[in-house]
Amino acid sequence: MSSGHSALTRLKQAIPRSRASRPVEVAGQTGAPLALYRNYEDAKLGWFWATDAQGLLTYVSPQIAEDLAAEVGDLIGKPFAAIFALDKDPERASQRTLPFLLGTHTSFVELAASIAGSSNGRWWALSGLPQTDDQGEFAGYHGHGRDITATLLNQRDASQLAMYDSLTGLANRHHMAGRLATTLTAYQVAKRSCALMMLDLDRFKHVNDTLGHQAGDELLKQVARRLRRVVDETCEIGRLGGDEFQIVLPDVDDRGALGELGHKIITMLTQPYSIDGSRCVIGASVGIAIAPYDGLDSEELVRNADLALYAAKGAGRGQYRFYSSDLHSVAEERRQLEEDMRDALAKGQMRLAYQPIVALGENRITGFEALLRWEHPERGSISPALFIPIAEDAGLIGALGEWALRQACLEAAAWEGTARVAVNVSPIQFAHIGLPALVSSALANSQLAPERLELEITESVFLGEGADTQAMFDALKRLGVRLALDDFGTGYSSLGYLQKAPFDKIKIDQSFVRSATEPGNRNAAIITAIVSLATALDMETTAEGIEARDTLDLMHSLGVSHGQGFIFSRAIDHDRIVEMLRAGQLELAPDGPSTHRSDRKTLFRKVGLIHEDHRYDVTMRNLSKTGAMVEGLIDIPLGTRFVVDFGEGQLAIAEVRRSNGQRQGLEFDVPLISDGADGLCTRHRVSPYMLAAAGMPLAALPPGNYPLVGLGENRAFSLPRFAQADAPGESRRVA
Ligand code: C2E
Ligand code: MG
Ligand code: MG
Repeated sequence: MSSGHSALTRLKQAIPRSRASRPVEVAGQTGAPLALYRNYEDAKLGWFWATDAQGLLTYVSPQIAEDLAAEVGDLIGKPFAAIFALDKDPERASQRTLPFLLGTHTSFVELAASIAGSSNGRWWALSGLPQTDDQGEFAGYHGHGRDITATLLNQRDASQLAMYDSLTGLANRHHMAGRLATTLTAYQVAKRSCALMMLDLDRFKHVNDTLGHQAGDELLKQVARRLRRVVDETCEIGRLGGDEFQIVLPDVDDRGALGELGHKIITMLTQPYSIDGSRCVIGASVGIAIAPYDGLDSEELVRNADLALYAAKGAGRGQYRFYSSDLHSVAEERRQLEEDMRDALAKGQMRLAYQPIVALGENRITGFEALLRWEHPERGSISPALFIPIAEDAGLIGALGEWALRQACLEAAAWEGTARVAVNVSPIQFAHIGLPALVSSALANSQLAPERLELEITESVFLGEGADTQAMFDALKRLGVRLALDDFGTGYSSLGYLQKAPFDKIKIDQSFVRSATEPGNRNAAIITAIVSLATALDMETTAEGIEARDTLDLMHSLGVSHGQGFIFSRAIDHDRIVEMLRAGQLELAPDGPSTHRSDRKTLFRKVGLIHEDHRYDVTMRNLSKTGAMVEGLIDIPLGTRFVVDFGEGQLAIAEVRRSNGQRQGLEFDVPLISDGADGLCTRHRVSPYMLAAAGMPLAALPPGNYPLVGLGENRAFSLPRFAQADAPGESRRVA
């Protein structure tokens, strides 16, 4: 040990004027004070250090040598400033570095420091006092150090707790709100964009209820882990509470990229989870809003992302949706529909239509699927795809489903022959213990033979995968009815379900069926696998939504046993079926286009065509990702280039490729992208920053058309080049 008595004498002066050392500060004391220093060192309350004028250590307490895993002898002669580095946290440390402080002979008190280079996980509070010799020359430092590791870690834990969700380790609601608000304020100044995703798990409550809260917690942790894997590190992910998550994506405004990410998140989260040995599956919905387009401040952006999420959930779940201003009216409309639905049954507004199911090859009808139709007094016929999810949320599906089941049995019992009737059963009905009794009562009332009734169930009934599911299958099979797995290929699609549950039929979903003919698509191979498994298990297969010849031929060649779709027939009225069956008409010749055209939708919507400094109103007749057919301008030369204004800042440059009187076929320079629901949108929009630069107030994009900024909305500099046809049509979308 080289820390002899010479060092101890120097120690008298070594105590800095810090709080810890003040009692023994008086110079010239010996005896009791020295013993005190020793006690102080031995009790590990703190340690002392001293340097010469060059900043080289002349004394350190043995204790710190131990902490640094060094010998005191090795430390003596080393530059003090090379051993320690001040903490970078601006709240605790000086803005200066240790070499700077020592070099300028500045005194310092209780600055947090750790080992220079890589920290060993310990922190000290360092104090130092410059010393002068008899001539008044700087002679080095005397100082003191104190271990503050425990205090610092406690502080960090506390701030961690305040900012993060203890279950998942993701940022909490409070932290996310702060982060979003500061980001948006700063980005507005810097004219940057920032996207916000709101995410909600579908049927999480079901897992919580059937598997317990602990399983629910475990599920949330796994969801957080998956989210971290799929989302870029520059983005912040938070859990707002329950099964609600939020993602802030700085500098993203490309809706193509956001849509892809939304899709990826949904796909990833709907993969099965293993929780305490049991398997469970959930869904996810995503709403997306982008600043500054959809909102400038966090309040506006969060509200609009929420609205998009609400729309995504309403549109059947497992979807993402971008905010657009018409969602305000969609939300209002949904509330209205829910209210109207409460007495729709009592007012006789519901009826069933039946779509034939045909044995492929022979084109022979083997049964009909009962599909609910709601004739709304003001709004006309409303699709079940729209009102069933609302009924499920509003607790109305029980009554509606019971009515559909009883009605379908009654009507089918009146059919001549043995054609079956298929009835859709919501997962909510399936989870209800009274379902077998209801089915048995509907059969008894109608006198329908049980084997003529087929219940269509979607994969989501396997969610909790408890003993209840199996018991329900058994009870239904005991009644002698048939079971079909509906919409296979949309959600969780596990072939494992087929082996476990006693299905008589698998219905392959229409989106899966139709995309099978697209070049490079692998669905055909998957359908082959489904068919061979189904055949081995003695099940039938039905391809849903066949519209075109090529799809029909492909399904037939893949060995799919049955088909359903517009190529054979749409859903028809009960009276018409009675007539057909009475006349013995059991064959349906396929009738449809030769090939399936992807994504082309029939529309009836007003858009603007901008050419030079004029905007023309035209009606859009159909729309695909790559082009549109418009009507309303007369005799436009081929090759004319327009900017198509879809409204809400969505502009697409297009060229006239076909022209026939009042109709023009346009091709877009840059293809449109999916809006997550059924529609299309542009990848980018006009930036509110750009509009502001042109003199408009900075605000989220208003609904309606793009103002001809700079040109003056009502000021034309030249004569219009093209003639507008009369009556451009209604402005409402009807398809
Ligand atoms: P789903 O069970 O998959 O029924 C098939 C849907 O595809 C029907 O839509 C049908 O009209 C449509 N479809 C059939 N062939 C084609 C085709 O070639 N092309 C296109 N584009 N579509 C075709 P719909 O009637 O609108 O029903 C939508 C969904 O609503 C049904 O899907 C079913 O899940 C649900 N649903 C209908 N009725 C009931 C019911 O009574 N109870 C319950 N729980 N759900 C029902
Ligand atoms: Mg169905
Ligand atoms: Mg289906």
